[in-house]
Amino acid sequence: MIRFENVTKRYRGTKRPALDAVDFEIERGEFVFLVGASGSGKSSCLRLILREDTPSDGRVLVLGRDTRSLSDRRTPFFRRSIGAVFQDFRLLPSKTVTQNISFALKVIGRSRAFIKSAVPEALERVGLEGMGKRMPHELSGGEQQRIAIARAIVNRPQLLLADEPTGNLDPTTSVEVMRVLEAIHAGGTTVVMATHEAGFVDKMQRRVLELRGGVLVRDEMRGSYGDTSAVSTLRAEPERGAAAIAALTAALDVQREVAGPAAEPDSGGDDIRPEPSAEKTAERAGPDDVAAEAVEDERAHESADIPEAETESAEEDVAPEDEAPSRSAFPAVDVHPDELGMADRLGLPNRDDDEVGPTS
Ligand code: ADP
Ligand code: MG
Repeated sequence: MIRFENVTKRYRGTKRPALDAVDFEIERGEFVFLVGASGSGKSSCLRLILREDTPSDGRVLVLGRDTRSLSDRRTPFFRRSIGAVFQDFRLLPSKTVTQNISFALKVIGRSRAFIKSAVPEALERVGLEGMGKRMPHELSGGEQQRIAIARAIVNRPQLLLADEPTGNLDPTTSVEVMRVLEAIHAGGTTVVMATHEAGFVDKMQRRVLELRGGVLVRDEMRGSYGDTSAVSTLRAEPERGAAAIAALTAALDVQREVAGPAAEPDSGGDDIRPEPSAEKTAERAGPDDVAAEAVEDERAHESADIPEAETESAEEDVAPEDEAPSRSAFPAVDVHPDELGMADRLGLPNRDDDEVGPTS
């Protein structure tokens, strides 16, 4: 599912590579922790997987594709099979929970019927059913992160990337988020989670890839990763729960000392991705479509342009389905990618003249 072949990543203006000849392979269905101190290269790894960046040397293969062979224009289709969550949640503060989650589906042209069933289902998967009408500020940090996870998985990606998803959370809440990630993994999604809370990770019985100064120094299979029977129930095991909390507490203390309220070196964007020609592909793309297929599909849509994000009328929530998904127009959304910090990631030009949405 993911293969790094001798991957080196050098950023312009830096002496030491951020990743140095890194080799690993992650199979479908694994749950993998990517650990290492701040600056060890974890986010760089995830950015290469998401094709927010390409390697300086070596190859990164994801979902059967060499990420370097993907054009910028094809990348949104590739990313359709990948969900991502970040330390800072990245919810839209002025949108309800339902709107935050359904936005991702609207921009890829999912039908209203799909959205209407998928959003509550995603909320249920993260244990927050019935919260759809809340605003993000009415939720705790842990709940906000679970909403971000719901948004990341609502299109049923094959792969979920999580970059320090518990970095802003207290230990108890972190455990809740971990349980949600485990449940998503148990449902068949491959999960790669970057964290520098190594002490916590060591308690979790998962495969661990450890980076040190950009070098992969450990690839350890621990316990039952990939064996979904072992993670299909998420009932708390008192001992393990206690150990995890103790480890989390220690790790978070260290984290606060070392990092403070860490911000990523660059904002990697969001899992919400406006895509070209969404109305053309949406009906064909099943929930389990693979990126390779999406990319193949996309060859048929060479002329696609990034759609305008339009101001939508009063209608915000998902309305009752009338059986006929709109194919005539790109689904209206009321947030411009710029608002999400996605323009760079999508390779979009800055569009200062756009009449929609706040600018930063
Ligand atoms: P981690 O996520 O483990 O904290 P990163 O992947 O963010 O590590 O960073 C790895 C190294 O690469 C660090 O030394 C960092 O300063 C550097 N780095 C990351 N992104 C950039 C960038 N866009 N430009 C220059 N250097 C970068
Ligand atoms: Mg990072």
